[in-house]
Amino acid sequence: MESVSPERRPTPTVRVANVPIGSDHPIVVQSMTNTDTADVEATLAQTAALAAAGSELVRVTVNTPAAAAAVQRIAASLRDRGIGVPLIGDFHYNGHLLLMQFPECAATLDKYRINPGNVGAGSRHDENFATMIRVAIERGKPVRIGVNWGSLDQALLSTLMDENARRPEPKDAGAVLLVAIVESGLRSAETAERLGLPHDRIILSAKVSSAPELIAVYRALAARCDYPLHLGLTEAGMGARGLIASAAAMAPLLLEGIGDTIRVSLTPEPGGDRTEEVRASQHILQSLGIRSYAPQVSACPGCGRTTSTLFQEMAQQIEGHMSRRMPEWRKLYPGIETLRVAVMGCVVNGPGESKHADIGISLPGTGEAAKAPVYINGRLDRTLKGEGLVAEFLEILENYVSSRFAPP
Ligand code: SF4
Repeated sequence: MESVSPERRPTPTVRVANVPIGSDHPIVVQSMTNTDTADVEATLAQTAALAAAGSELVRVTVNTPAAAAAVQRIAASLRDRGIGVPLIGDFHYNGHLLLMQFPECAATLDKYRINPGNVGAGSRHDENFATMIRVAIERGKPVRIGVNWGSLDQALLSTLMDENARRPEPKDAGAVLLVAIVESGLRSAETAERLGLPHDRIILSAKVSSAPELIAVYRALAARCDYPLHLGLTEAGMGARGLIASAAAMAPLLLEGIGDTIRVSLTPEPGGDRTEEVRASQHILQSLGIRSYAPQVSACPGCGRTTSTLFQEMAQQIEGHMSRRMPEWRKLYPGIETLRVAVMGCVVNGPGESKHADIGISLPGTGEAAKAPVYINGRLDRTLKGEGLVAEFLEILENYVSSRFAPP
């Protein structure tokens, strides 16, 4: 049986400042601030934290004149700190006005996110959309046309609902809604190109908050266009629910080669850490074998064979050591993020799982003798015994890392 190795869907490359998106470029992790953009210090601090966590693009809300005026100062301060992460402006309702009235903001942002459902109604819709696209053309900026089912273009939805009602066998309203989401993105992209925006400056997204529907929408989009796609479950929710829903929605698409940038839209706890959404995206990509960010530690969950807390304590010490060492390892050892370590709880699966890792230890379960076989590159290397076995394993791990990953 062959392992799944996703072949990316062919797309043009869209460059957002120095970050290439699409084609066979790495799938890009992005995030969004939740500070008031007009609050320069708070937005700067959060953008810096998101970038430090590994966010390769950061989106900020640009919703008021004060927010638009702040963008240039935020970008300048980021540059002063040596942080080169591209900034994306998120526009709704008044983007056409802000981009025209704040030319520094338009020039500073590296990409504009335009929601075609929130650019005005009636004739204003087309006019406002065209204004934003013209600014993007003049400034040489890429655009993400970001449809969201919570703010879908109502005029388009009504038209499609009416057309559907006239069919001999109408589809149900939910199916028409999904068609409308896809159509809104594709028709807006077509309009943008007709206005003169180059094909390779468009990214599409069409977010919904249900996993099966997100999969259906993106498969339809992928079949009908070659624009790079930004993937994400909107309003994923809090904590484990948001993480699992996002992973469940995005994994099938990513394994089919669909998706060129991703975001996990987690609702943080009040005062919670916004960078969690960056790590969530990284975990999804690493779990699927698409990108590597940090050494992967396979630890068994423990069971009745590990009823004492000894195994948990030992596993925690090993994981803790690796986390503490990562900042230095990253500097010294290129490729360290591909390291696979196994920390297992007993003889049942311990040796087998350890053999699959680069380096693994099978700790003693309840009733087993206090000894722990260590496997390196699939072979039994030695067996550790006694109370100091964790310290000894960490020394072996350090030696393994330096001998395998040190540059020649
Ligand atoms: S490896 Fe051993 S301790 Fe870990 S879950 Fe399996 S049986 Fe339990």
